[in-house]
Amino acid sequence: MNEHTTGAAGPAGPGEPAGRRPKDGRGDGTRAVRAGLPEPVKNEPALPGPVFAAHFHLPGDVEGPYTYGRDTNPTWTLLERAIGELEAPGEDVHTIVFASGMAAISAVLLSQARTGDTVVLPDDGYQALPLVREQLEAYGIRVRTAPTGEDAQLTVLDGARLLWIETPSNPGLDVCDVRRLAAAADAAGALVAVDNTLATPLGQRPLQLGADFSVASGTKGLTGHGDLLLGYVVCRDPERAAQVRRWRKIVGAIPGPMEAWLAHRSLATLQLRAQRQWANALAVAEALADRVEVTGLRYPGLATDPSHKTAARQMRGFGSVVSFTLPDRAHAQRFLAGLLLVEDATSFGGVRSTAERRGRWGGDAVPEGFIRFSAGAEDTEDLVADVLRALDLAGQQG
Ligand SMILES: *Cc1c(COP(=O)(O)O)cnc(C)c1O
Repeated sequence: MNEHTTGAAGPAGPGEPAGRRPKDGRGDGTRAVRAGLPEPVKNEPALPGPVFAAHFHLPGDVEGPYTYGRDTNPTWTLLERAIGELEAPGEDVHTIVFASGMAAISAVLLSQARTGDTVVLPDDGYQALPLVREQLEAYGIRVRTAPTGEDAQLTVLDGARLLWIETPSNPGLDVCDVRRLAAAADAAGALVAVDNTLATPLGQRPLQLGADFSVASGTKGLTGHGDLLLGYVVCRDPERAAQVRRWRKIVGAIPGPMEAWLAHRSLATLQLRAQRQWANALAVAEALADRVEVTGLRYPGLATDPSHKTAARQMRGFGSVVSFTLPDRAHAQRFLAGLLLVEDATSFGGVRSTAERRGRWGGDAVPEGFIRFSAGAEDTEDLVADVLRALDLAGQQG
């Protein structure tokens, strides 16, 4: 184990001075296995099963908590509690779960920005952000963009209503200084939202870094099995939370009870998965660093990475994604075809390693040979050997 894979019982990870325990006095592993569990009830399971209900018995006056299935569901309640505990341990926060990461992202932007407002987005963020931008502009909301790297969004904050940060950015893995940007946004009267998908709440806690909203796709590393879509928003302010919840009600972008329950079940292993996957990502990045055919290697956990200093100050773990570029499209395709333990598939953060030639989607400004690699929970030696073997094969065939 090295400093990048520090878990619950060991010394504190990057961004957290050694010896300091979180406010609730528990380590990450303990918190993950217990997150959101109800008080034990005799003869009941520890984590109650999914509640499938479109409506609930409701004689007489309309009284909560459970009335209609688009507004509330007991399975969401437990999952929301769990995610809140992981995003902001020991704090009183509001969490709203959604059908997908994009539903959560759209809910924050569209519930907070009004016609005439200005929103600042990253220009190197998730590939569907440009679609959101088009929609915001169609509603008369002005959009400015700047890159994630070197805190470039600082230069376009003037008069903004909301700053949207994605760090580390997907797929370029640039990192910005959340504390610095949040302080500047605050001074400029702008709200701050951070897309925390890549880091997961174990790797980064945006609210503690000064953000108003932590928003993420739970489809990726949070749930980690590649079998469901989910999104969430966490914030401290009850009024803003109510606005986001109202947006969910209006558009009906709700997770199914089965997905919510599966997600909650998956959280129990979040720390175990993250530890192995982050260690694997670092090992793969270190192996790639020695290869002449690899350029543009990025992993925030590599001491030589341009983002490492900033990442180490604000992240508690550096994530499972590594990006790099092979000489051309054909070389990249040969590499992907040669992998035996790594599936050629999109998405990331799952227990089975995946990789893809990102340029095939057309949405990101990346070279033809650009690979986004997501390290799974395989044995480190097996995974690194598979990557090196596929690189050798791809080089020989060229
Ligand atoms: C995948 C992803 C999203 C979108 O999440 P979905 O669950 O696919 O809707 C948003 N932001 C980032 C950084 C992502 O990687």
